[in-house]
Amino acid sequence: MATLPVFRWRLAPDGYATRRQLRAAGLRPGGQDVAATLERPRRHRPPLIAHLYLIDRALPVRPMTPGRWAALDKANTARRLCPECRRNADYVIPSSLGMCVPCAYPDPHGSEGTA
Ligand SMILES: [Zn+2]
Repeated sequence: MATLPVFRWRLAPDGYATRRQLRAAGLRPGGQDVAATLERPRRHRPPLIAHLYLIDRALPVRPMTPGRWAALDKANTARRLCPECRRNADYVIPSSLGMCVPCAYPDPHGSEGTA
């Protein structure tokens, strides 16, 4: 039996979305099976389970528009924002660093110009 990956709440990798998140972006699972589950621990009660679907395999409810893609992107943007420099790192901030790579490993030569 293949076991579904189980992620802790808020730690799901990029590329997965709950049905609700898909819907917010105008997507539907499109017949795919649940790709992973998310567990949200609760006190004195069984954990809350959320089913995750692969965004790659999701199908649009209606044709995608830039606005819909933006809505989908928004769901992931929060996890890409560096708490240190407040910039969108374009990748999920590694929890091991807690900040974007340039913040974690500043270039000692400062060769990146003036931004
Ligand atoms: Zn940063």
